[in-house]
Amino acid sequence: MAIKSINEALCRTCDLWLAGGCPVADSCSVDVIRLDAEGMPRLVYPQDCHNCFLCVRDCPLGAPEVTAMIPSLVLPY
Ligand code: SF4
Ligand code: SF4
Repeated sequence: MAIKSINEALCRTCDLWLAGGCPVADSCSVDVIRLDAEGMPRLVYPQDCHNCFLCVRDCPLGAPEVTAMIPSLVLPY
């Protein structure tokens, strides 16, 4: 899992959220993020995040916290 959270306190100050247009659910091609009834972005399938950082790119306030992928152990063959 690479996305850790979306900072709700920041979202509540966001002009895009106030206008009902948070873009980050559409940024995510694998349905990690959905908007709730308030239009607030929520993590629904965080385990499916594949570190594309498109939600980070599309959020003007840096609310999604996505960490870099830690490479798994590579075994010699
Ligand atoms: S995720 Fe970003 S764009 Fe969406 S409401 Fe929060 S601060 Fe605004
Ligand atoms: S980093 Fe990519 S896959 Fe992960 S939540 Fe953001 S948009 Fe979705």
